[in-house]
Amino acid sequence: MKKQFAVVGLGRFGGSVCKELYKMGHEVLAIDTNEDKVNDFARYSTHAVVANATDENTLLSLGIRNFEHVIVAIGDNIQASILCTLLLKELKVKQVWVKAQNQYHHKVVEKIGADRIIHPEHDMGIRIAHYLASEKIIDYIELSPEYSIVELLATEKVSNQTIAKQDIRAKFGCTILGIKRGEEIIISPPPDQLILEKDIIIIIGSNKDLKRFEEEGL
Ligand code: ADP
Repeated sequence: MKKQFAVVGLGRFGGSVCKELYKMGHEVLAIDTNEDKVNDFARYSTHAVVANATDENTLLSLGIRNFEHVIVAIGDNIQASILCTLLLKELKVKQVWVKAQNQYHHKVVEKIGADRIIHPEHDMGIRIAHYLASEKIIDYIELSPEYSIVELLATEKVSNQTIAKQDIRAKFGCTILGIKRGEEIIISPPPDQLILEKDIIIIIGSNKDLKRFEEEGL
């Protein structure tokens, strides 16, 4: 389904979010104070505008209240990021996601109602560390300090066995959400689903249980 997003700040992070959402077919309003950036993003967004997102009237005139989802990706200017987040929440934007520079920034935007706070370098660092540490881990998403979703490569050990035979939930306390097989994705696979070597198993669980499954189950 086509959704509407606004991205404030077209630096490395905001720029990637903007381009990717647009590539996925969504409507994206790209906002930056820097004219060159806005010109660069004209072809990677539905509308690109030069605007100061810390000005309430400017936000109103851009119709920001009609956007359900706004990403605040103002980098170094923490003050501007906080002010923009505050205005967006006052204007009742439902989902305001903010890129945080540090823990102080995180705390403040959390207090004023940011719906999700992202630390791209920190989050990516964790994901890369997991890739590096295991040949079986394809991707890793931290849900909370205790729980994650991981994509694991099925080895020969589990090949041609059904999910029921593996008894992963009982033995390891983890649940398979899906299986990627080439282009195909089998969502919520049934117990009699066969796992093949090189399948990518998308699995959710506590970090402790996932680690045990990765080491002993695969
Ligand atoms: P990154 O670390 O993701 O590359 P940057 O700090 O380089 O982030 O980029 C942040 C962007 O936010 C810059 O392009 C900057 O012009 C823009 N920006 C800063 N303040 C505002 C503001 N008040 N309104 C809109 N855009 C802003």
